Amino acid sequence: MAQSAPLLLRIVGASLTAASRAGKIVRDVMSKGDLGIIEKGKNDLQTEADRSAQQCIIGSLSKQFPNVTIIGEEGTSSCEVPSDWIVVDTDPDVLQYDCPVEYQYTSEKDVVVWVDPLDGTSEYTQGLLDHVTVLIGVAIQGKAVAGIIHQPYYNYKVAGVPLGRTLWGIIGIGTGDFKPMLPPKDKKIITTTRSHSTPVVQAALQALKPDEIIKVGGAGHKVLLLLEGKAHAYVFASAGCKRWDTCAPEAVLHAAGGKLTDFHGDFYNYDKNTPHENSKGVFATAIASDHDIYLKAIPNEIRNSLS
Ligand code: AMP
Ligand code: MG
Ligand code: MG
Repeated sequence: MAQSAPLLLRIVGASLTAASRAGKIVRDVMSKGDLGIIEKGKNDLQTEADRSAQQCIIGSLSKQFPNVTIIGEEGTSSCEVPSDWIVVDTDPDVLQYDCPVEYQYTSEKDVVVWVDPLDGTSEYTQGLLDHVTVLIGVAIQGKAVAGIIHQPYYNYKVAGVPLGRTLWGIIGIGTGDFKPMLPPKDKKIITTTRSHSTPVVQAALQALKPDEIIKVGGAGHKVLLLLEGKAHAYVFASAGCKRWDTCAPEAVLHAAGGKLTDFHGDFYNYDKNTPHENSKGVFATAIASDHDIYLKAIPNEIRNSLS
């Protein structure tokens, strides 16, 4: 069964297992206490957990899909990967779904997998552990088609319940291991960055006249708030986010009926040669039909500053 399932489903199945394994690495590094922090740039950190989780995911997926392009946030590494970080078993449930017709015969050369091994690093180093996600996005011919979001610390403060969760979405199938909720009708709640704000980011938020602003870390976590019905929109009027931040969340959100684009309303391209930076900002709504309405409230001078 596994070998005969379409490539897209096999990649999602393998990514579910790899994301959970990476999440365990993220927790193990934190428990050991030595985060090995490196400053990659201004306000941009990398820890041992980012590096090791990426080696786990890329090592595991490239072993199974050698001709798929995999682009990870932390670049390439020639270090040897411990054998117990390489996982090649697949989540069997996802293989049971009917693959959307247009992706039934996709070949490895048409696929790019975007990996953010630890989204929300800044929050991870500050102990805001529920902001952290592991993101694996699957793009086919430049379009974000499937995503896996693993939250390694989900429920970490609640005794006796399973720690962590993994959810997925595939356009044309829907979401798995998760039931999306709609946000309340009588309010406008916007989620945005807590560690990368600028005057333009603030101006965009004010233009939307929100009832409430929720500042949390990570693109994955903010899209989870949309999926959980806790916020109506995710608005970030700045460059800084990268394709590995948005590929998985965008695909899951679209599969759930939402929409994520840049500030011009255009979808990002996820081809292997695309620039990595989401230089035109991130603009997402929980409900796709809200997207245009919210976007129209953004003044042109803010939109035009993102190009
Ligand atoms: P945030 O909403 O600030 O948590 O950012 C979401 C994702 O985009 C995280 O992976 C951040 O590291 C990244 N990001 C956003 N803005 C910047 C920036 N100015 N510099 C570096 N990374 C950024
Ligand atoms: Mg990130
Ligand atoms: Mg990251």
